[in-house]
Amino acid sequence: MGSTKEIFIPLVLLTVAVFFGIWTDEMGWCLLGATLIWIWIQGTEYRKVRKWTKNPMRKPSNGLDNWFALAYRPYRSLLRQRQRTQAMAARLRQILRLAEVVPDGVIILGPNGEIEGLNNAAKDMLELSDADLGISLASVVRSPDFVHFLRPNGVAEPLEFTSPYDAEVSLEARRIDVASTSEDPSGAIILIRNVTTLNRLLTMRQSFVANVSHELRTPLTVVAGYLETLVDPQQDTALKLEVLPKLNSPIKRMQSLVDDLLLLTQLESTPVSDQKTPVNMRRVIEGAVHELQGLLASDDQITICCESEHHVCGVETELHSVCVNLLSNAVRYSPEGSHIDISWTNVDGKCRLAVQDAGVGIAPEHLHRLTERFYRVDMSGARAKGGTGLGLAIVKHVLRRHDSGLQVRSELGTGSLFFCDFDPCTETSSSAL
Ligand code: ADP
Repeated sequence: MGSTKEIFIPLVLLTVAVFFGIWTDEMGWCLLGATLIWIWIQGTEYRKVRKWTKNPMRKPSNGLDNWFALAYRPYRSLLRQRQRTQAMAARLRQILRLAEVVPDGVIILGPNGEIEGLNNAAKDMLELSDADLGISLASVVRSPDFVHFLRPNGVAEPLEFTSPYDAEVSLEARRIDVASTSEDPSGAIILIRNVTTLNRLLTMRQSFVANVSHELRTPLTVVAGYLETLVDPQQDTALKLEVLPKLNSPIKRMQSLVDDLLLLTQLESTPVSDQKTPVNMRRVIEGAVHELQGLLASDDQITICCESEHHVCGVETELHSVCVNLLSNAVRYSPEGSHIDISWTNVDGKCRLAVQDAGVGIAPEHLHRLTERFYRVDMSGARAKGGTGLGLAIVKHVLRRHDSGLQVRSELGTGSLFFCDFDPCTETSSSAL
């Protein structure tokens, strides 16, 4: 870069001063005047640079080459830095926009652990807000495990911790360290997801497997014991013949358990909508009572009362299993021969299926758990009565598929009422009758 103006101006001033000096014969004064003018020009340029330093993002207004270059070079570099920062901010905004579609919480941390960006999921999970931007994450979320996990020197193993704001919620955090470059200092991305449901499902799966194994073990042990007798050549034939019919009960028990499990799986995995037809509930109730004849002490132990003529839009076999399960429970948990009522009535624009018994009843603390798989009020007593512990779980699933739900009213020692309400079917096709 030449300094043309820088040399040009003193040259012109010198020439003019020499010319006037010769002309006026006052060379000294003329040279002094030229020097003063030159100093005044430099002073003006200096003031312009000083003024520019107060707002260095503005283009400098200096006219002289060297003074201009003095201000223009840092101005250019500031401009480049601003463009880079703007591009980075735009990239960060874009990343955060993308992070919004991720269901997990995403937090971008700067080199000192300060929050640079976070999506809405992270705000909800850790009760953060935009006001926390720039603040250290460890100082905002005060869970000791989490604070330890945020330290950048540790191994970035996923951390499961209880939400600091809700003891019922389990969260899992993962830290991805971002290596530093000469341009960008290091930082980290924290991914947080809610694992409460997942944990619950894992526990449910474990207890389900444990329950099924437990339910199968007892009848299997009985069968194995009888088989030992049957294959023993030293046992006499009369005893073996006596043992044979005893195999029936444990085998039946295992069969009902497997049948119920398969039915439950089918109810959970197949859609119901295209299988629904108008179902005649009177016929379903009569069929269920007929099926239970073997369990009843007398033919008139169950009273049927069908006041409603409405049908239900549903799957007949499933509604049949609801009636069979409710009735067989009523029989099994009542004293022998005790009376049971099953009714199909109109109640407040709905149709109600109700089974009332005068049996042992259920204490209030058990009522909300009755439809859980394998839940029994009296474990050993219920098994002895031949139940699989899945009956009411099946009822719950079937009712859910028919837009209904099971309701129970019960009093210990007095009896129980199990009922559910259905929307009446509007189309009553004769084929279903
Ligand atoms: P189970 O095959 O053991 O009967 P269910 O799912 O049908 O399993 O019922 C769950 C539990 O609810 C039963 O073990 C029993 O303790 C209780 N229960 C169900 N129906 C009745 C009833 N009508 N009276 C009293 N207790 C009942």
